[in-house]
Amino acid sequence: MTYTGHCLCGQVSIEINGDVTQRIHCYCSMCQRAHGSDHSEWGISLQKDVAVTGGEYIASYESSPGVMRRFCRQCGSNIQFHDASEFSKAHFAFAWALLTEKPEALPLVEYFKPA
Ligand SMILES: [Zn+2]
Ligand SMILES: [Zn+2]
Repeated sequence: MTYTGHCLCGQVSIEINGDVTQRIHCYCSMCQRAHGSDHSEWGISLQKDVAVTGGEYIASYESSPGVMRRFCRQCGSNIQFHDASEFSKAHFAFAWALLTEKPEALPLVEYFKPA
């Protein structure tokens, strides 16, 4: 599959030539603040399948040691979550909302969901 997407202002775009394998909702307080919502929403693809353009518009905020939250410096859209884990070396976690067409029927993984 091929998926495309972009940030609110359009300066940053993403193209995925492959599958989106996972959808993650995280309810931690940092994701809540960063997203202005009660949870963040990320898609996961293999790093090698993802191409991002407009990188000069991407700013990063290190929200915990080694955890980079990347966003468009012009419109503020979330772009990527990246940490120092082995998982992050091989995978690309992108903001679900960037996608123009959403993949269907993906396994949903939820972190820190309130009981
Ligand atoms: Zn933007
Ligand atoms: Zn979180």
